[in-house]
Amino acid sequence: MTLRWAIPALALCVVLPWLPGLPLFWVTLANLIGISAIVVTGLVVLTGIGGMTSFAQASFLGFGAYTTAILSTRYGLNPWLGLPAAMAAAGLAAAAIGAITLRLKAHYLALGTIAWSVSLFFLFGNLDILGRNDGISAIPPLTIAGFRLVDVRLSATLIGVSVVGVIAATHNLLDSRWGRAIRALRGGAMAAASCGVDIARARMLAFVYAALLAGLAGWLFAHLQRAVNPTPFGLYAGIQYLLMAVVGGAAYLPGALLGSALVVIVNDRLQDWLPKLLGTSGNFEIIAFGLLLVLVLQVAPEGLWPHITRRRRHTHPRPIAAMALPKRVAAQANRAFEVANLRRNFGGLVAVADLSFTLAPGELLALIGPNGAGKSTSFNLLTGVTRPSAGTVHLMGRDVTGLSAPAMAEGGVARSFQHVKLVAGMSVIENVALGAHLRGHASPLRSILRLDRAEEARQFAEAATQLAHVGLGDLADRPATSLALGQQRIVEIARALAADPAVLLLDEPAAGLRHAEKQVLAALLRRLAASGMAILLVEHDMDFVMNLADRLVVMDFGTVIAEGPPEQIRQNPAVIEAYLGGVA
Ligand code: ADP
Ligand code: MG
Repeated sequence: MTLRWAIPALALCVVLPWLPGLPLFWVTLANLIGISAIVVTGLVVLTGIGGMTSFAQASFLGFGAYTTAILSTRYGLNPWLGLPAAMAAAGLAAAAIGAITLRLKAHYLALGTIAWSVSLFFLFGNLDILGRNDGISAIPPLTIAGFRLVDVRLSATLIGVSVVGVIAATHNLLDSRWGRAIRALRGGAMAAASCGVDIARARMLAFVYAALLAGLAGWLFAHLQRAVNPTPFGLYAGIQYLLMAVVGGAAYLPGALLGSALVVIVNDRLQDWLPKLLGTSGNFEIIAFGLLLVLVLQVAPEGLWPHITRRRRHTHPRPIAAMALPKRVAAQANRAFEVANLRRNFGGLVAVADLSFTLAPGELLALIGPNGAGKSTSFNLLTGVTRPSAGTVHLMGRDVTGLSAPAMAEGGVARSFQHVKLVAGMSVIENVALGAHLRGHASPLRSILRLDRAEEARQFAEAATQLAHVGLGDLADRPATSLALGQQRIVEIARALAADPAVLLLDEPAAGLRHAEKQVLAALLRRLAASGMAILLVEHDMDFVMNLADRLVVMDFGTVIAEGPPEQIRQNPAVIEAYLGGVA
C-alpha cells in the first residue's frame, strides 16, 4: 500500500459531506464510523498484527475524552490544546497499565484488559470530578478562526482528515524498523529477539500506540458530542471495537474502516428493527452481534477485507540505495567465544553437564553428538534463550554469562533456528531486514513522520546484499513462508548475516537441503569464515560436517567426549563407540 490514496481521500472528506440532498443523519453516522475507525486502527496494530487482544480500548477513549472535557470546562483550556493532553493522558494510562499487564500472555492478557475495562468504567462513574454517572456537559466545541465547528458536516471533514492521518501514520509505523518488530510479535517473537529486538518494548509500543489513537478519538468524541458520560467507555463498547476489528479483518488497515462501517450501520439498523420485530426493547443487538461475528468468522476467518479483496497482506519492492550500513561489531579479540564449564539442569535432568570450548574468529566449529546429547540446549545457552545453571560464557573477551537473547545479539551473536522461524506475513527481504534491526536507529516517531526513509533504504539495501550473497536475490519480494523449507533455512542465514555478526550460530543449517544446495551452503560458510567470522554449527549430516568444519566438539550426555579436527574425530574410539556405535 502506498500513500497515493491519501490526497483524493482528503478531498473527499471536504466535499462529500456537502453533497446536495445528503441527509444529515448519514453524515452523523459517518462521523461515528470515523471515530470508531480511529480506535479500531489501533486495534489492528495491537491485536490483529501484534497478537495482543485488548477489550480496554474504550477505556482509553474515556481517558482522552474526560481529559479534554475537564480541561476545557473547568480550566477554560482551548479545545485544540486538549488534543495533546487527551493523547498524553491515554498514552500515559496505557504505559502504566501496560507495565503491569503486558507480562500476561494470550488469553490471560485479554482477561486482564477486561478487568481494567470494568474497573475503569466504575472509576469514571464514581469520581466527583468526572461528574459521576451524569458525566460532564457543556463541553465547548472546536473553533477554527473564531468559527464554531458545530455543523456535523464540518465535523465530518475534521474526522475524515483525522482518519486519513491516522491510517497514513499507522501505515508508516508498520512499514519501518519498529513496525517489523511489531509484526514479528505474533509467532516470530523468538526470531525477533535473536535479531536484537526488545520484545517487551515492542509490545509496549503497540499497546501505547493503540491507546494514543483511542485518546485522539476520545478528544474528537468529547468536542463533537459536547458531553461525556461513562457509558461509551465501558466493556460493551470495548467489545464492539474488537468486533469491528475482527469483522473488518483485524490484520488489515482498510479492515478497520470496513469493520467500523459495518458494525455502526448494523447497530443503527438493529436498534430500529429489533424492537419492532420483537415487540419489546432491550439490548438485543448484543445477541445479533454475536451471531454476526460467528457468521463472519465462518465465511471469512480473517475478516471481510481480505475475503473481499482476496489478497494476503502484500509486500512491495524496495528502492535500493547505494550506501551501506555501518559495520557493527569488529571481530577484534582473538577469542570469539570462550565457554567454560557450562552447565544446565532441567529439574533433576542434566541437559548440559560440563561444556568447555573456544571458538576463534575465522574458525568453523561443529558441535555434534547423538540425539539428546545436549546440543540444542548448548545452543540456547550460547544465544541467551536459556540461562546457564553454572559456568561462564565470554564473547570477544566480555563476560556475557546469562544475558538475554537481544543482549547477545547486541554483543555480536546471530543465529538460525533448527525449526525455521521466519515471520509469516512478511516478504523474504523484510525478514532479512529484521536482522538489521540493531543497525538502525530510527524511533517510532521518526517512522510515523516518514523521516526514516534514508535509513530504511539502507536497511533494505543491506538485506538485498545479504540475499544476493546467499544466492536468493531473486526471491526478495516473495512471501517468506511460501518458500521451500531449504530456502527458508538460507533466508534465516541471510537474516543472521544482516546483523553483521561476529559469531554465527547455525542449528542444523543443512537439514532439508538438496545435495547441490548443501555444497552452495558449504561454500558460503567457508567464505564467511575466511572473512573472519566465527561460525559454530550443530549438524546431523556427517558428510557435510566432516568436509566443512575446521574442528569438531563431540558431546554425549551433556559433556564433551572428544574434540579435534575431522580426521582425528573420525578415528576416535570414544566417538565411534558413543556416536556412531550403532552404525559401526
Ligand atoms: P540434542 O539437541 O543434542 O538432541 P537437547 O539439548 O535438545 O539435545 O536435549 C538434551 C536433554 O535435555 C534431553 O534429554 C532433553 O529431553 C532435555 N531437555 C532439553 N530441553 C529441555 C527442557 N526445556 N526441559 C526439560 N528437559 C529438556
Ligand atoms: Mg537438537
